[in-house]
Amino acid sequence: MEWFSRSNGELFAEQVSVANIAEQFGTPTYIYSRAGFEAGYKAYEEALSGHPHLICYAVKANSNLAVLNVLAKLGAGFDLVSVGELERVLAAGGDPAKVVFSGVGKQRHEIRRALEVGIHCFNVESEVELERIQEEAAAMNKVASISMRVNPDVDAQTHPYISTGLKDNKFGIDISRAPEVYQRAAELPNIDIVGVDCHIGSQLTTKEPFIDALDRLLILVDQLAERGIKLKHLDIGGGLGISYDGEVPPTPTEYLSEVRGHLMAQEKYQHLAIVVEPGRSIAGNAGLLATEVELIKKSDHKNFVVVDAAMNDLLRPSIYSAYHGIEPVQQDDSKESLFCDVVGPICETGDFLGKDRDIKVAEGDLLAVMSSGAYGFGMSSNYNSRNRIAEVMVDGDKVHQVRRRETIQEQFATESLLPEE
Ligand SMILES: *Cc1c(COP(=O)(O)O)cnc(C)c1O
Repeated sequence: MEWFSRSNGELFAEQVSVANIAEQFGTPTYIYSRAGFEAGYKAYEEALSGHPHLICYAVKANSNLAVLNVLAKLGAGFDLVSVGELERVLAAGGDPAKVVFSGVGKQRHEIRRALEVGIHCFNVESEVELERIQEEAAAMNKVASISMRVNPDVDAQTHPYISTGLKDNKFGIDISRAPEVYQRAAELPNIDIVGVDCHIGSQLTTKEPFIDALDRLLILVDQLAERGIKLKHLDIGGGLGISYDGEVPPTPTEYLSEVRGHLMAQEKYQHLAIVVEPGRSIAGNAGLLATEVELIKKSDHKNFVVVDAAMNDLLRPSIYSAYHGIEPVQQDDSKESLFCDVVGPICETGDFLGKDRDIKVAEGDLLAVMSSGAYGFGMSSNYNSRNRIAEVMVDGDKVHQVRRRETIQEQFATESLLPEE
């Protein structure tokens, strides 16, 4: 996480002290680095330059308007899974013509809105959905561009909950049935077939599963060509991993140069534009979660560092047993190292941010939960009636609050009591 570095043991976000940010905005707070998001995006641009491409940032990884705006300014496209995400992209200045719309349960009103603003394409995940899009497009007298999300049945070798490309998964259309479904799509008057799509999972740390999936997609491209169906793009999804705990995933260039190699090797594939849908690999290492130690609870067999952030703020450790590095904001070697679990105050055993860590820590210290820029705030909730926390973005030597901390009144705002008897 090069946007977060130390000077005299003190942690900085770009040029700003994390302790100063915590003092100004309180804790817990998500701290993002603009340069981090930009570098994440540019790594894909570089990897794909010279080949027709579209980089669609997966909005669900971090959907703060300021994050979307920073990426929109670089010319990013967006991968979305709901109309709420579409409205965010529009509000942040994103170009609807660079939007792809994924998701297994697109509702009719969502399809209509996407047709109205003119998205690049729908990634269709079932035959039922295909018919639904046809009906809505016909009613609006429009033509819907579509790409079929196929399930290539490859094992992404990642956590089962973030593996999405296996046969028994809810996502996509079984690749063996895809030619028939494309045939049906080709017969529909308000459907224009533009591509094929897959997304096999998240936090992949080797390129082999991606390349396996690609090769299966290319076989499908051939089968479709035999039926006279010519595709314009190949969407290979997102899923590239980041380093949370010393993993060394391929860089976008390492991964995509191999993809380009497979396409360029045969003339029949050379016209295919490459679409990617990276989320985590753009946002993950561009953020951290700053939290304060409330108290330390020691016992004979276990020590707990209780912090003011909890599973409702950062859910990944609880649901995926995910690892996030946890570091003191100010390193102090005079403190004794404590073997501990770092936990939140929520009434759940699953409420932890880290287990079995060695941290030099005392009450009142600030800790940084690293690599929290993706699937952090976006998965947060009000569980235990906790206010949703603030988000700030550092840009060089400046700090901008991009979401202020929620208030208790705001939590109640949409609720009401039963009428008086
Ligand atoms: C979540 C998701 C992505 C992004 O995945 P990352 O692992 O964050 O890169 C891309 N495409 C689809 C369809 C997704 O659901």
